[in-house]
Amino acid sequence: MIPRKYYATFMGGMGYSGVMADLNQVFMPTVVDVDGKPTALGVTSKESDAWDVLRAFFARAEDTEFIEAFVEAWEVDFIGEEPNNELGRMRRRPCPICERSSFWEELGEITFKGERKGISGRCHRPECSAWIEQNNIEDERWDCGWPAAQWTKRVESYNLGFRGLVEMRGAVTAAGRKRHSTMSKEIMEDL
Ligand SMILES: [Zn+2]
Repeated sequence: MIPRKYYATFMGGMGYSGVMADLNQVFMPTVVDVDGKPTALGVTSKESDAWDVLRAFFARAEDTEFIEAFVEAWEVDFIGEEPNNELGRMRRRPCPICERSSFWEELGEITFKGERKGISGRCHRPECSAWIEQNNIEDERWDCGWPAAQWTKRVESYNLGFRGLVEMRGAVTAAGRKRHSTMSKEIMEDL
């Protein structure tokens, strides 16, 4: 097992945002199966390309055994220990809306308890696309949404965002049962 440093975020990649004139780093998108075995999906010279590779993979990963993913930066022509840094890690869980295993959440830094909690997430089935994002102005705010139902909600934590999505699904299901609302029915059928 390669020791990894945990910092930086999904999109940002702190310290790696500059445009590179020379190739001094390469980026490796990797997925991990249920047994913990990693499979690299490629090597790119741009960090954004590595994340694009993962996103494309997530869209068709529902029936695979892969449950985690990460992107690493590797120093080129670096001799010594730890030539690699982990830039971000994702974990798959059942979607709070469509309940399929296509929801990938970005994990935060390891807490003092040794846990990593979700900080943002998205369902990668286009029909669903439920999401939770940290508000980029207010740190202590998260937004969650379900595009098919045109619903969004603002909440105080990532977990409340997850719960907000579960409630949205419940409300649409209940409305569909009560009024046989066409909108609710159509949305649920698409899922
Ligand atoms: Zn979903």
